Amino acid sequence: MAKSSDLVVGIDLGGTKILAAAVDAQGKILGRAKRSTDSEDGPPAVLNRMADCAREAVARADRSLSDVRAVGIGAPGPLDSDKGIVIFAPNLSGWKNVPVRAALEKTLRKPVFLENDVNVGTLGEHVLGAGKGIRDLVGIFVGTGIGGGVILNGQLHRGLNGTAGEIGHMIIQIGGPRCGCGNRGCLEALASRTAIARDIAAAIRNGKKSKLGGKDLDPSDLKSSDIAKALEEGDRVAVKVIQRAAKAIGIGIVNIIHVLNPEMIVLGGGAMAFGDHILPVVRKTVEKRVLPLAGDHIQIVPAKLADDSGVLGAAVLARQRMK
Ligand SMILES: [Zn+2]
Repeated sequence: MAKSSDLVVGIDLGGTKILAAAVDAQGKILGRAKRSTDSEDGPPAVLNRMADCAREAVARADRSLSDVRAVGIGAPGPLDSDKGIVIFAPNLSGWKNVPVRAALEKTLRKPVFLENDVNVGTLGEHVLGAGKGIRDLVGIFVGTGIGGGVILNGQLHRGLNGTAGEIGHMIIQIGGPRCGCGNRGCLEALASRTAIARDIAAAIRNGKKSKLGGKDLDPSDLKSSDIAKALEEGDRVAVKVIQRAAKAIGIGIVNIIHVLNPEMIVLGGGAMAFGDHILPVVRKTVEKRVLPLAGDHIQIVPAKLADDSGVLGAAVLARQRMK
C-alpha cells in the first residue's frame, strides 16, 4: 500500500472553470472538485476558490491535507514558473503579476509548483497518457488558441525564459490572417477553433451554402458540437475548412519534425472533437512533405487524458519538482 503522504494535488486553472484532483503515486485520481472561475471577482477570490477546490478534492479522496506532499498548478500564461507568478492571463480579468505560488503556499501550507497549462498538459500525456515511455515528444493542443509543449530526453524543455513550445505562433503563411499575438499567418491564426469558426462564417458570407447558418452567422456563436455534427453529415463548407486547418497543423508538425526529430506528436485540445477529420489529413500532409528519414517511424496520435490532462499533468508537475 502507498504511503499516506504519497498524495499530490493537481489544479487546472482555466478561464471558465477551476478543476482540482487528489492523485496517488500511480497517477490515479482519488478525489475531484470543480468551481466556476468567475475571474471578474478578482485574483484573491479566484485564489481562494483554487484553495477550496484543493481541499475539497482531498476530502473527497477521504484523506486530509497532511497526506498531501505538494500541489501542482497549470495556469494560462505567460508566467514565471521559477517565481510562481502569473505575469498576464488574457482570459482572467485583472490577472497581472499574480503571485499564485506564494498565495497558495500560505493558505495550504504545502510546496506549490506553477507551470503553463499546455506544458502541464504535455507532461500529463508524457507520463500518464499517450506518451508513456517516449523519450522525445511534442504535445500540440488545439482549442480557442493553439499551444504546445516539448519533452526532450524525458524532461520538459522550457527554454531560456520558459516560453519553449509556442507552436501556435509558428508562422506558416507569409501575409496570412492576423493572429492574436499581432503577427500574421501563425498556426493559431490558421487552425485554432477560433480560426475554423471565422473561416466557416467567411465561406458562408461569400455565398457557400452550409447547414451551419446563413450570411449573418456570427463565428462566436458556432459551437464545436455543431461543427462536429456538420462534419458527420458531410457539410462541404465544414469539411473544407477543417481539412485546410488540418493541413496547416500538418505543415506545423513537419516543421517541428525537421527541427527536433521527435518520436511522437500528441494532438489534444477541444478541437480534437473533429479528430476523425483532422488526424488523417495531418498524417497525409506530414507523409507528403517531411524529409526522408526525418519522419520515419514518427507516431502522430490523439491525446488520451481528455479533460483530465490539466489536473493529471499538474499532479505530475508536483511530483517531478519534489524530486
Ligand atoms: Zn501568433
